[in-house]
Amino acid sequence: MPTMLEVTGLNHRYGKDAEAHVAVNELSFTVQAGELACIVGPSGCGKSTLLRCIAGLIAPTGGTVSLHGDRVTGVPDDLAVVFQDYSRSLFPWLSVARNVEFPLRWGKLSKSERRERARAALAEVGLAGTENKYPWQLSGGMQQRVSIARALARRPALLLMDEPFASVDAQTRFELEDLLRRVQREQGSTVLLVTHDIDESVYLGDRVLVLSKSPASIVADLPVGLPAERDQITTRESAEFVSLRGEVARLLHGGSPEAVKAASDAAEWDLAEQEAAAAEAKERAR
Ligand code: ADP
Ligand code: MG
Repeated sequence: MPTMLEVTGLNHRYGKDAEAHVAVNELSFTVQAGELACIVGPSGCGKSTLLRCIAGLIAPTGGTVSLHGDRVTGVPDDLAVVFQDYSRSLFPWLSVARNVEFPLRWGKLSKSERRERARAALAEVGLAGTENKYPWQLSGGMQQRVSIARALARRPALLLMDEPFASVDAQTRFELEDLLRRVQREQGSTVLLVTHDIDESVYLGDRVLVLSKSPASIVADLPVGLPAERDQITTRESAEFVSLRGEVARLLHGGSPEAVKAASDAAEWDLAEQEAAAAEAKERAR
């Protein structure tokens, strides 16, 4: 598989001299074409800063980012980002279809091709028939589907997602996770998603990159040996899943015995809550 993204020795520092805050430190990794890679790290560790550097939204203070071999110096045409906050990323005065078509205006597509792309992308995320509604007429989960459709309609070489499911309820999060995996496999997209949620990183990823506390650097790059076909209940119960989430938790919490115990207690509690949510989501899908 060709390399889609290459990040080499990335550093980012906000401010100058004594007031400088180092957010990203000597960070290197690659993502192969067609891969769904998750980056997991605690809040404030520098995940959004890293994604902003990759997206060309800010210039890193050191290191390089390359997308399919081209050095990133500004926002690349063939890159799309989905942010956590759907309510601020959609235009309330544009219909759902117009929101999805909006970024296509800068491409080479005709008006009817743009309309068709938006229609297909909305159908792909289960929103056929909502074209003429406005974002504020939709639930939070549906609005985030619109954001995903808008990103997909551009057929980006790389889709970056910054905690995209952190603002929706647990059942909706499960539905959106499964939607993302299905669409990513159907379209063969390359996705880099950051999250602070250990379980989400393992459930979604073909690979999990674990970040250190601030400043962010990579402490582990773990392949996820789960089957491609995943299920919110059985996958999360499988031995492979449980052992991998334990490993990620240990790495994130620095490995002291107390920290590991605290993490595993929290994980057990989480699991009970998440199982209930998964069962409810399944029930609703019937
Ligand atoms: P995360 O997304 O992992 O929660 P961020 O990348 O948003 O972390 O932030 C990493 C660190 O950099 C935090 O300490 C944050 O306060 C700081 N930071 C983020 N953006 C800025 C900024 N524009 N100016 C100064 N400091 C910032
Ligand atoms: Mg963030």
